[in-house]
Amino acid sequence: MLCICLRCTNYYFETIAKLDHNYVGVVSEPTCTEQGYTTFTCLLCGHSYVDDYVSEEGHDWNESVITIEPSEDSEGLRTFFCLHCDIIRTEVIPKLFVDNKLTVELIVAV
Ligand SMILES: [Zn+2]
Ligand SMILES: [Zn+2]
Repeated sequence: MLCICLRCTNYYFETIAKLDHNYVGVVSEPTCTEQGYTTFTCLLCGHSYVDDYVSEEGHDWNESVITIEPSEDSEGLRTFFCLHCDIIRTEVIPKLFVDNKLTVELIVAV
């Protein structure tokens, strides 16, 4: 700050003590696939940085639902839903196994 004497116009500079940053943190919660973090922003100068990382939580799969019933001719499909996000996971259910051999043997035996 420049200070000027009103009588003699002598002047000097006065250094203003640098204020410490005054940060406020905003927490971003972790999701299934992305880690959480806190964004700190200085109320005085607007400087911001990110810290306090929290590791991602991972998907939380629910009980599976059979979306396509398997048959003797085609495979079925089982679907899992994540309880926290919209991600779904599917698993193929193998075709139904029909034991033809046993029937054949019975016929032969008769
Ligand atoms: Zn600051
Ligand atoms: Zn998820």
